[in-house]
Amino acid sequence: MNVMDRETAFEPVDADPMPRRPTVGVDVGGVVVGGGAPIVVQSMTNTDTADADATVAQVAALARAGSEIVRITVDRDESAAAVPRIRERLERLGINVPLVGDFHYIGHKLLADHPACAEALAKYRINPGNVGFKDKRDRQFTDIVEIAARYGKPVRIGVNWGSLDQELLTRLMDENTVSPQPRSARAVTREAIIQSALHSARLAEEVGLPREKIILSAKVSQVQDLIAVYRDLSRRTDHALHLGLTEAGMGTKGIVASSAAMGILLQEGIGDTIRVSLTPEPGGDRTREVQVAQELLQVMGFRQFLPIVAACPGCGRTTSTVFQELAESIQNDLRTNMPVWREKYPGVEALNVAVMGCIVNGPGESKHADIGISLPGTGETPAAPVFIDGRKAVTLRGPRIAEEFQAMVADYIERRFGAKDAAAAE
Ligand code: SF4
Repeated sequence: MNVMDRETAFEPVDADPMPRRPTVGVDVGGVVVGGGAPIVVQSMTNTDTADADATVAQVAALARAGSEIVRITVDRDESAAAVPRIRERLERLGINVPLVGDFHYIGHKLLADHPACAEALAKYRINPGNVGFKDKRDRQFTDIVEIAARYGKPVRIGVNWGSLDQELLTRLMDENTVSPQPRSARAVTREAIIQSALHSARLAEEVGLPREKIILSAKVSQVQDLIAVYRDLSRRTDHALHLGLTEAGMGTKGIVASSAAMGILLQEGIGDTIRVSLTPEPGGDRTREVQVAQELLQVMGFRQFLPIVAACPGCGRTTSTVFQELAESIQNDLRTNMPVWREKYPGVEALNVAVMGCIVNGPGESKHADIGISLPGTGETPAAPVFIDGRKAVTLRGPRIAEEFQAMVADYIERRFGAKDAAAAE
């Protein structure tokens, strides 16, 4: 095909994600994962679970930020003993988010010794690589599964690259060495991760846990490996899948890596629940991982959590930071108000706001939004037209443009989304 042919050829391009891979739905304390349910956002605390005050505060913050399931570490007797108290205190705060216990090495013992903990948790996470060694491994895994079956709780069999079952890996590596067509060590490791998850799931079912009580994950820290592992895993099982890039890292690196890997898998219909494993900055906000997970699902069109603010990046045509500050303050205002607005203004998550820096793209982008403002760039008349539902509504001038636009956004929300409230009340 020459350049002319390419320019004139019209081939429709499908912009929709592939259909979700069918998986067996799992009820995690009232939140359904898989089985076609909306993709669930989850997170994990980094407090010492034995410190009930700190853990309650962080779970509450994560839940208020939008985490639909929260995992907590249960690593010793003191942590296990604190779990029922944490659950009770959350209930008193009106926070019903399901709690998942993360167990390693002694989970079988902690769950057996602390029945109130086993009862209070909505799911148990088991890492098959850290459940015990040699003959103890299957026995201790079975113990946890039996407790889960007795309490009617689901489990997540969470394989992790960093704690892979070394016996399985060694066996597969040995088989690969004598194979006529040996694969790379990386490919064998990926296969070991998948086999570990599938073998453990089979064992859990043999012990008596039904499929609708089992979620699988197979986390690695490299983007390409994660994509390869989950593509393969999703072809080989219909268990609900938890997606996440482990050890994603700090700041932008963690966000970009998680979004790249999970974005591709989600587009291919793979994944029923996600966690963005960000390392917080020292003193940073743990809820950032929830925000990123929500934004990933929202920008890809899978779910709507809060109104979107479209803002231009700014360029040499803008000499002030007014539009950046306005875009940020509108976004913060929307995020802060969402917990109340979600109840008060049904459908407000679908709102689109535009904050633009000059006349080049400002009016056009603002017309596409539900409500948008085009601020004056360098050399332009100091006037800011505001567009509502595609039509110019007013032109703001003077030093209070930001405040006036914010008030107009609040008015618009009240008019468009509050009316349903009033109509329903009549
Ligand atoms: S809308 Fe104007 S200020 Fe914003 S990036 Fe485009 S040209 Fe620059």
